[in-house]
Amino acid sequence: MNRIIAKIRKTGILLLAAAGLGARLVSAADVIQEETGNRSGEGLQIVSGVKLNETQPKTPSPENGAMLPGMAGPEDAEGMEGAAIIPENPERGDIAGEYGEPVGLDENWEWALNSAIHTGTATLYRAEEGPDGPGRKGITVCVNAGHGCAGGADYQTLSHPDGSPKVTGGTNVEGNVYSTAISTGTVFADGTTEAEANLMTALALKEELLADGYDVLMIREGEDVQLDNIARTVIANHCADLHIAIHFDSTQSDKGVYFCAVPEDWSYRQMEPVSSHYQEHMALGQALTDAFSQNGYALFEGGALPMDLTQTSYSTIPSVDIEIGDTASDHSPEACAGYARALKDGIDRYFQENVTIHSLSAYEDGCVMLACKQPSS
Ligand SMILES: [Zn+2]
Repeated sequence: MNRIIAKIRKTGILLLAAAGLGARLVSAADVIQEETGNRSGEGLQIVSGVKLNETQPKTPSPENGAMLPGMAGPEDAEGMEGAAIIPENPERGDIAGEYGEPVGLDENWEWALNSAIHTGTATLYRAEEGPDGPGRKGITVCVNAGHGCAGGADYQTLSHPDGSPKVTGGTNVEGNVYSTAISTGTVFADGTTEAEANLMTALALKEELLADGYDVLMIREGEDVQLDNIARTVIANHCADLHIAIHFDSTQSDKGVYFCAVPEDWSYRQMEPVSSHYQEHMALGQALTDAFSQNGYALFEGGALPMDLTQTSYSTIPSVDIEIGDTASDHSPEACAGYARALKDGIDRYFQENVTIHSLSAYEDGCVMLACKQPSS
């Protein structure tokens, strides 16, 4: 229980730190724009003075520079000891699944300042505890409804954390050092945007997960959230155990489901954090597409297409971009609910096959890493 409280305190710090940080980071970016006319990741580096691969502390607190609302900046934080004790939210009670808590980007997190758009917040939901609830698993799944970030195509961010060029094409061209911060997404023939269909599926998946005891970090729950692909990925890295980005492809053939696999490129697979995590990404993608297949959905190209994505390039937890279909695929609410059930099956499958859960054992390590990622023997 102490561990839980410690974790809630830490999360509280994180959550409350979020609101103030967004404004602070953006004002830095605005300065760059005024001075240089661009808001690229390179510009942000200059202002922040953060080296690209510098390891940052994972647990936000005033000691390591995280900001709390109304708190003085790190340079004049003297006399602020004690400000980090944040009371638990009295409204939350045991039915926290109904009450999400905002989670924003902490500038101390590794690669946070490579992001260009991060004034928005994700929302963390907890599964119900108590005799009537499903019992919490102690696993947080980040559900990332792809796209839905107005203005995202106007900005460029570093494709890779180390500044190396992309090894495959995709939305952005092979060889590009910079990629679109977050693109608009495609549109179905009936005018439904991909962002809408992604969201319908994401909201259905959230309900499936909470009902079975998973905690859920929702990146986007409305038409728009001001978080680009790097911000989404870095938040997921620090606040979830698994990251699933939901997409539909732009083709028009109802071609089936696939995930964006980690390219078999030596330099790419040598690069951190890809090197340490690509096997997890591949295992997760495999589990998800297996579940779709078992639920009767067709797979495209065996369910895996190599793609060098920003998400994959920055992920330090098992992380997959799954393309559920394309602009000719069914995107009715019923269809999206079906996709969500398949995704939920895939998540269950991933944990059954790949991970030994040591519930709560990681709480003291800080933040909200809830499951130890150890391959089962
Ligand atoms: Zn997409």
